[in-house]
Amino acid sequence: MNQDIATILVTTEQINDAVARLGQELTAEYRDKNPLVIGVLRGVAPFMIDLVRAMDCYLEIDFIDVSSYGDATESSGAVTVLKDIDSDVTGRHVLLVEDIVDTGRTLEKLLELFAGRGAASVKVCSLLDKPERRIVNVTADYIGLSVPNEFVVGYGLDFRQQYRNLPYIGVLKPEIYQN
Ligand code: 5GP
Repeated sequence: MNQDIATILVTTEQINDAVARLGQELTAEYRDKNPLVIGVLRGVAPFMIDLVRAMDCYLEIDFIDVSSYGDATESSGAVTVLKDIDSDVTGRHVLLVEDIVDTGRTLEKLLELFAGRGAASVKVCSLLDKPERRIVNVTADYIGLSVPNEFVVGYGLDFRQQYRNLPYIGVLKPEIYQN
């Protein structure tokens, strides 16, 4: 896999530092709130696992699977819930955990969905932010790192379902997209 990467944008050490910092901030925020931490599948998987272990407080986890239709590197406007959470969010402090906020459409849709379910609060933590690409005016409350306007893979993020297991975040060589 490593030979398919043109540039490493975020090293494993930078990821670990960002996760540790977010874990401290979220521990302070949620210490007495027993939050429901909801990961947005599938790209969030490695980040979610590391993040909750960096949070030193009582919490519960759940997952939601959404799909945004489009070609391999560009999401379209349509966002569909493929698998909903199993938990009741009424009166709960919800923390949505995302891999990346790009256009913002997925996050907008998720915030709409949870707004109507009676949560005590809904906040968002995203590992990555790509602010240059934003189409919808939404921001995560907690952000690990900002990345430039490039399609990135690794640490959960895929290209055609591959590269999610890379321990760093990088950009693929152009010929990989052309194959
Ligand atoms: P948005 O709805 O904000 O445009 O993006 C939602 C989803 O598109 C993200 O959760 C992620 O799955 C995917 N996505 C956006 N940008 C990238 C990227 O640079 N690389 C990869 N692999 N996926 C991305």
